[in-house]
Amino acid sequence: MDKKKHILVVGLGYRTGLASANFLAGKGFAVTVCDMKSRDELMPVINKLDRNVHVIAGNQDPSILKNDFNEIILSPGVPQSIPLIQEAKNKGIPVLSEIELAYRHCTSHIVGITGTDGKSTTTMLTAHCLKAAGFDAHPCGNIGIPYVSIVDSLKKDSIAVIELSSFQLETIHTFTPDVAILTNLTPDHLDRYNSLEDYFAAKMNIAKNQDSGDYFIVNSDDEFIATHLPALKATRYSFSLQKEADCYFNGGGIYCTLDGRQQLIARADGLKILGLHNVQNAMAAILATLSLGKKIGRDINFKALEDALYSFEGLPHRVQMVGNFEGRAFINDSKATTVGAVIMALKSISGNVILIMGGRAKGDDYSRLKNYLKGKVIGLVLIGETKDEFAVLFNDIPHFKAHSMEDAVIKAMKLSTEGDTVLLSPACASFDMYKNYEERGNDFIEIVKRLKQGQLRWM
Ligand code: ADP
Repeated sequence: MDKKKHILVVGLGYRTGLASANFLAGKGFAVTVCDMKSRDELMPVINKLDRNVHVIAGNQDPSILKNDFNEIILSPGVPQSIPLIQEAKNKGIPVLSEIELAYRHCTSHIVGITGTDGKSTTTMLTAHCLKAAGFDAHPCGNIGIPYVSIVDSLKKDSIAVIELSSFQLETIHTFTPDVAILTNLTPDHLDRYNSLEDYFAAKMNIAKNQDSGDYFIVNSDDEFIATHLPALKATRYSFSLQKEADCYFNGGGIYCTLDGRQQLIARADGLKILGLHNVQNAMAAILATLSLGKKIGRDINFKALEDALYSFEGLPHRVQMVGNFEGRAFINDSKATTVGAVIMALKSISGNVILIMGGRAKGDDYSRLKNYLKGKVIGLVLIGETKDEFAVLFNDIPHFKAHSMEDAVIKAMKLSTEGDTVLLSPACASFDMYKNYEERGNDFIEIVKRLKQGQLRWM
């Protein structure tokens, strides 16, 4: 980019927009940011902006474009459909994501991870395995550390392990990961996409610039992917829980067959992260580590890889054991904002479940849950905006509606008996009741703590 350029950052979030604007200002570009929120609302973020960044608050009107911008960086929270972006495209102004911006300044190797569920876990686990194999690996992206905020600190032999959402992938142009992972694909974000095909197309941008020297790692058990995956230039490796593949699961063992040799990599019961979905995440991380080794020409120490898989603790708010009280186990799965994630959580728990579910709907077909709840979920506690809708949809299961998380935990206690599991796995976004899924999960953890300490009466 030439330094005389004037760049507009659309959407000033605490993370991506802020990091992009400061990165560009630090490199001497003229930078303007615009956001729908008022200056007062934005003040905490504005205070962190480089002094030279010009802010247009409370305005995302196409008339902003009269300032003649050369390029637009679109924050992932802002859809491309807004009139400002449509007008910019009509005028031929390039619209890029922060990922594309950072990539243009990146000299290191890249592993990119996308999919509907399991992105963050696979990103952290892949970085953990790569570090154990002796690489200088840095997790970043959608996990909460913008790629652009670390790109200047990466060296030539470092590895950026980037979690990528479909929104971030919508506006990449030249971004090319050495290794790409597609974890799975189920309906999500259908409030922003017209169809599952459109959502998949955005995800598949991850592979669009790859060639035969690059690797594409994919879940071969996923039905939608199996029927929709386009031809790829990259070398494809697949993983499976059910059949032989480049990495597969059999009799409790995780095996790899790269280069025609069958090798036991690890045993699933040695993993600290629960459930078969995490075996899938582990297989994706193994294949990513081995393919990066191949691409760079470095042998991977299998013992170090096995140890890394066993020492990975997992991330909070994903099927996270919170504790026990009066014979009930409490599990926090607040990050489960899709039907697919709830199904996986239910599959990883043995015995009866009282499920706390609901929140802000994301356009999913929640009736898909019916078959999975049957015989497993003996009681439902419904929270958030979807509670009336879900009460009708799941009316054959005993349920209560709750007006708060505390009320939900008390009602879950009433519905459960000793030996049951109380699972918070909402299938929905948290924004109707909380700032984010972390706040929702922490609230649940805190309430369980109070219950255990006798500070919350439930009978
Ligand atoms: P993402 O970043 O894609 O949202 P996370 O790793 O944060 O993925 O996990 C989000 C939710 O999805 C959690 O409830 C977690 O238990 C569940 N999950 C993790 N891995 C998978 C997977 N491979 N398939 C389905 N669900 C998964």
